[in-house]
Amino acid sequence: MAETIEQAAPTTLPLGPYPRIVMKDFDVPNIDQIEVYRAHGGYESLTKALANSKPEEVMEEVKQSGLRGRGGAGFPTGQKWSFLPPLGAKPRYLCVNADESEPGTFKDRMIMEVSPHLLVEGTIISSYATSVHHAFIYIRGELPFAARQVERAVNEAYDAGLLGKNIQGSGFDLDITVHQGAGAYICGEESALLESLEGKRGYPRLKPPFPAVVGLYGGPTVINNVETMATVPGVLRVGAQTYAAYGTEKSKGTRIYCLSGHVNHPGNYELPLGTPLRTLIEDFGGGVRLGRKVKAITPGGSSAPFLSADQLDTPLDYEAVAAAGSMLGSGGVIVLDDQTCIVGAALRMTEFYRDESCGKCTPCREGTFWLVQLLERLEEGHGKESDIPLLLDICDNMVGGKCFCPLGDAATASIVSSIKLFRDEYIHHVRTGGCLVGPKARS
Ligand code: SF4
Repeated sequence: MAETIEQAAPTTLPLGPYPRIVMKDFDVPNIDQIEVYRAHGGYESLTKALANSKPEEVMEEVKQSGLRGRGGAGFPTGQKWSFLPPLGAKPRYLCVNADESEPGTFKDRMIMEVSPHLLVEGTIISSYATSVHHAFIYIRGELPFAARQVERAVNEAYDAGLLGKNIQGSGFDLDITVHQGAGAYICGEESALLESLEGKRGYPRLKPPFPAVVGLYGGPTVINNVETMATVPGVLRVGAQTYAAYGTEKSKGTRIYCLSGHVNHPGNYELPLGTPLRTLIEDFGGGVRLGRKVKAITPGGSSAPFLSADQLDTPLDYEAVAAAGSMLGSGGVIVLDDQTCIVGAALRMTEFYRDESCGKCTPCREGTFWLVQLLERLEEGHGKESDIPLLLDICDNMVGGKCFCPLGDAATASIVSSIKLFRDEYIHHVRTGGCLVGPKARS
């Protein structure tokens, strides 16, 4: 009989005894409705900020909290806001990057589907802090339910006087426009997102100038991820000091880890930064399915290099994961069990980048295509030993600024790290035409 594997839906919320700043009320029925959201303290952080604090004081509170962007780069949020030039003739904009497309990442989708008002509240507070009067929420095209939820929440906020002119008598005006992308991974890159919002093809822009100086429609623009925005109300609710007390010295607070792959209980888990990878996988994820062992883990979506099973005690914070040779990225923790063909896994990931390459620059457009061809022939048993250094050589021609945007680097991560950790498996594919573990991914 074929083995059956129970898979929880990605938005299932197994809740642990850990502090929850973002997911505090995610198990409350109908928290997506404005009345229920308000009955549980929703929009109180906004009311407090508008009534008691100047914009620069809100910005300072976020700075003090140590909140870092949850989209991938992990840049300090308050500091990013402070890069905006002084108010001038051009309007400032805030763009929420809800184009969540990184394989293994599904936290922003959950926030928008389960508690869209949390995102709206965070966006209003952040717009107030940065003196923005028009914010945009750019939602991935393949997330229609999330888009409907956010649009409804925005409309409800307008009806409740939480958006529009003179919000709650504060004199602060804000409009939010919800925009759906057309389903291109590259539009998650901030400058391609701006191009797409302006109605152009989603090609990354040359930087500098950075969006904080020349962004949407040429105006100074802040771009923040959904989870970052959804954390801001909680930071104001508990206070910067309390928030900063969670996590580690440099990676403060909590974040949502998206656990997927070969674990018993995949899902979104909000935990303090610095929580060991082993705790996430074993205590929250229920360990590896079918009693198997961990083979490899990507701790930050498919753009992050693999870690190996002997790195399970790595704390999940920006610094520790970087020191271990990978990156925390989007918090998408994908677990591969010991029956996984690593060549097949690298091939699957590389096919994604080949398909999503926007084609603007040659190393990425051609490189991703060549990488897939080489991995395919290795996987199918027709590879040569010289294909392994050739793969690394192509990767070397794509990293470290040789491509126009970070997609080029991202495309090489699974290949370089898997050859480093599991070269024997690649060699086995060449010498025997088959896989060391499990069936071939392609047969
Ligand atoms: Fe486009 Fe790839 Fe070049 Fe980025 S690296 S601009 S995705 S071709």
